[in-house]
Amino acid sequence: MMRRLPVRLSPVADELLSSWIRRHAAFYAIPPLVMLRHCLPEASSLRAADLHLSGDQEIRLANMFATEPAVAHRMTFANVARSSRRLIAMRPTHYCTNCNLGGTEPAPILRSQLLGWRITCPLCGIQLRDARERELPSPFLQYRAAALRGEKLLDDEAERGIGTWTSPTEIARLLLMRRITWPVPPEHELWRFRVLGAIIPDLDHVVAAEQENLPTPAKPILPLYMRPALLAGVAIVESAGPEMLRMMRGYMMGDNRVRFTDAVETMIARASNLRASSQMQLI
Ligand SMILES: [Zn+2]
Repeated sequence: MMRRLPVRLSPVADELLSSWIRRHAAFYAIPPLVMLRHCLPEASSLRAADLHLSGDQEIRLANMFATEPAVAHRMTFANVARSSRRLIAMRPTHYCTNCNLGGTEPAPILRSQLLGWRITCPLCGIQLRDARERELPSPFLQYRAAALRGEKLLDDEAERGIGTWTSPTEIARLLLMRRITWPVPPEHELWRFRVLGAIIPDLDHVVAAEQENLPTPAKPILPLYMRPALLAGVAIVESAGPEMLRMMRGYMMGDNRVRFTDAVETMIARASNLRASSQMQLI
């Protein structure tokens, strides 16, 4: 059995596993990956450990760090559904002025700092901040309530596997696909127009004013000050239902339209299968 560390640092509330390992590595003056492999020789990276640990790995890690396997489990994203993992950032994208404790070096990183769908702190509920301290663009203020609904939809899906008629993460991806506008803009401006802009009409204008290049559907994590627009879009489409998704095909052209249509029809078919099977269970 793995020997316990002679000195063990307490994890802070909601600390990410790799952050806890990094702080021990700093204390023992060894590289973080060496620290991790001291316990799990087969581990490929700290990121991989954050995303998934087997039951056996959780037990070995818990032994070395003198804690419970369930505690180690909660420090990872092992519970997050695969489809939602594209919303987990590589580095912290925001912080909470209440819950992030400065002072110690290296500063602990909280699990919630990597969650790309959050605009409020899951621990204390206040508005999150980012390093650039940018204000929410004022056109987005009116979408605040919808954005909070969108945050909850994505959070329920990712953290608790609670879905609605479709996957909110899938909606977020579709909303970041490019759309076509008339008259067709010059080629160097095509990137600016996304499906989301058809639902949140102020988006195109804010993106242009900020010269912010929105991320692709593959990694739909927006900078914090733009995030409420996407969250609100998710909530609006979710509550409008499948017909709104079908209608949005009108904003697409060519291959993009084919891809969008395929994705939408798959989502709608899955939703009606789900409905049919839950009705069967009631009979
Ligand atoms: Zn907080």
